[in-house]
Amino acid sequence: MSYISKADRQRQLEQEEAGQHLFANRVRVYPKTVHGPVRRFKWAVLIFCLSLYYLLPWLRWSRGVTQPSQAVLLDIYHERFYFFNLEFWPQDIYYLTGLLIMGAVALFLVTSLIGRVWCGYTCPQTVWTDLFMWIEAKIEGDRNERMKRDAAPMRFDTVWRKTVKHAAWFFIAFWTGGAWIMYYVDAPTVTVEFWTGTASMEVYFFTGLFTATTYLLAGWAREQVCTYMCPWPRFQAAMLDEQSLTVTYQTWRGEPRTRGKRANNAGGDCVDCGACVTACPTGIDIRDGIQLECINCGLCIDACNHVMARTGRPAWLITWDTLADQAAKAAGTHAGFRFFRARTVIYLSALVVAAGVMVAALLLRPGIGLSVQHDRAPLFVRLASGDLRNGYTIKIVNKAQAQVIFELSTLGLPNAILAEADEGLGPANQLGLPVKADSVGTYHVFVSGQPAILREGSSPIDFVLRDTSSGELTVYHSIFMGPNTGARN
Ligand code: SF4
Ligand code: SF4
Repeated sequence: MSYISKADRQRQLEQEEAGQHLFANRVRVYPKTVHGPVRRFKWAVLIFCLSLYYLLPWLRWSRGVTQPSQAVLLDIYHERFYFFNLEFWPQDIYYLTGLLIMGAVALFLVTSLIGRVWCGYTCPQTVWTDLFMWIEAKIEGDRNERMKRDAAPMRFDTVWRKTVKHAAWFFIAFWTGGAWIMYYVDAPTVTVEFWTGTASMEVYFFTGLFTATTYLLAGWAREQVCTYMCPWPRFQAAMLDEQSLTVTYQTWRGEPRTRGKRANNAGGDCVDCGACVTACPTGIDIRDGIQLECINCGLCIDACNHVMARTGRPAWLITWDTLADQAAKAAGTHAGFRFFRARTVIYLSALVVAAGVMVAALLLRPGIGLSVQHDRAPLFVRLASGDLRNGYTIKIVNKAQAQVIFELSTLGLPNAILAEADEGLGPANQLGLPVKADSVGTYHVFVSGQPAILREGSSPIDFVLRDTSSGELTVYHSIFMGPNTGARN
């Protein structure tokens, strides 16, 4: 990666405009450390997010001796997702779909209300980049010191500082990658296995992969991820309108800019000091208006408030406001903030409906599951008695934490006889099938029926499964196959 000065960048842009270049080098951003209420709030959110991420895998949750004791665990090997009291099976994938829909609609709602706060405060890219920048400032110094050092020839002082910085970045990236793995394997177990060299190859591979991506994205790519790689800025504009709260430079108050002291209070409040630009982690000038690169972090607000305090002007020249309110203020009135607009009502309604459906689905979630697969070959056999016999593979899901005896029977085919393949044909149309705790029981069964009461080709048949301990029932609709003779029975 190479960096060029702003002046060179400007020259490049002029050349590009003249059609001489299709590629421009990155202009490195050296954000200046700022202090203030926005920065403090951002630290609080960062600490909360990181604590949650690193500590959640260590939270224990009692589910009995046969179950994992990790509160949040995506157990890929056993095909289970544990979330505190809830346990999801692969067939519950639609809950994940519902959760993603809710997440997307919630993001639309929040963006239409308060702009890109997700990007500025809680997006993992922002959180880790912020942390890495803090480390960089602690080791290499603030903006001016770093710029001077990078522009000067390499010295011992530069080498050791950069070495320590990259080691610290790598250390954090490693624990970030390691913590990610702990969401998939029991945290205490995998930690011991990792350091004793007995963990699986997948654990080492994915820890290495997530270490490398964290180090590269948060340490090197930084704002380029938001500007060039992330699709969200491209379509977030569709969620914003003139009533959305965004970080805004109050042009009507700041312009015309005045450098130094104002004569007779003439001119605007902006002293053109550039503090808002140097504080910006994406290197933009908020005075140019809403831009794709702006992540709504608000650090320029803190920077500008300091300048306003030093120059004796009112604070919040840069603030959170809506375009409508800004237009009203420029005209000497006040428009306020409207929470309920067509788009927010639509997003909110969609969110409430999605949440309601999810809660209802969770509450009504069956504790048992049944799937029936008809044998492909042979589709049927004719027995010596003249009856037709079909074979089926039955899968019974037992989500209970104890073995359950299930009763399987059929409906819709009068006088059908149901039997387990291993047991041979019996006289009953009911089977008792035990399934171990928290597992899937697989059985092969036969159903035999009389051709005289069958429809030609295929007849509908229902398999009815009953949990003998809870009485819960579930039904699976299937077919019983017979010969196609060209005439209906
Ligand atoms: S312009 Fe302000 S709010 Fe936008 S990214 Fe830069 S510092 Fe953050
Ligand atoms: S920090 Fe405030 S006063 Fe300084 S350039 Fe930015 S908007 Fe103007």
